[in-house]
Amino acid sequence: MEIDFNKNNDGLVPAIIQDVNTKQVLMLGYMNEEAYLKTNQTKKVTFYSRTKKRLWTKGEESGNFLNLESIKIDCDNDTLLIKVKPEGPVCHVGTDTCWGETNDPQFGFLTELEGIISQRKKLSEIPAASRKENEQSYVVSLFDEGINKIAQKVGEEAVETVIEAKDDNEDLFLNESADLLFHYLILLKAKGYGLKDIVKVLEKRH
Ligand code: AMP
Ligand code: ZN
Ligand code: ZN
Ligand code: ZN
Repeated sequence: MEIDFNKNNDGLVPAIIQDVNTKQVLMLGYMNEEAYLKTNQTKKVTFYSRTKKRLWTKGEESGNFLNLESIKIDCDNDTLLIKVKPEGPVCHVGTDTCWGETNDPQFGFLTELEGIISQRKKLSEIPAASRKENEQSYVVSLFDEGINKIAQKVGEEAVETVIEAKDDNEDLFLNESADLLFHYLILLKAKGYGLKDIVKVLEKRH
């Protein structure tokens, strides 16, 4: 497939840089044909810098190279999606992405749920007397009770899941499984961890 380098009459196409593992969008750069060819040859992402007006291999000074995994062209051949393994923070201000985000793996709705659980944990750190009434929640009360109580809840939900697994009520099995996962996320957070830490351990074993 031919890349349409001249859609903007400047010989450049935008290149969206995405982490192949976490799926985070890391930065956006521009490539001319030379930058594209060099990227393919060296397997280190090279852009055409509109500021420097020359080829620019990301990481040439910082050492934070973008190691090439794959390049895809979009539907009308004018935008690249480049998957990489970054060697360090991608933005020159030191953040993981150029939008100030951390480059953590994303687990969709579970990541959203982990965020809500984090907020509840922060609320539980405020003295109970100075909390607003609408700041009372089941999750806050679990954090108030402490790690042992949360761990015990995980044990109970695990046993309930085991019991329902032996039965043939699929709805109960799914609900107890959801209870188990939910309380497990709370236990991880209470211990100062998240799903990403467990995934790291699993990846190391893999
Ligand atoms: P580096 O390519 O990481 O060695 O950085 C060299 C220079 O390129 C920096 O000092 C910045 O001026 C610029 N630069 C680095 N990373 C970015 C980025 N993600 N977006 C825009 N400019 C960057
Ligand atoms: Zn397009
Ligand atoms: Zn940046
Ligand atoms: Zn349950």
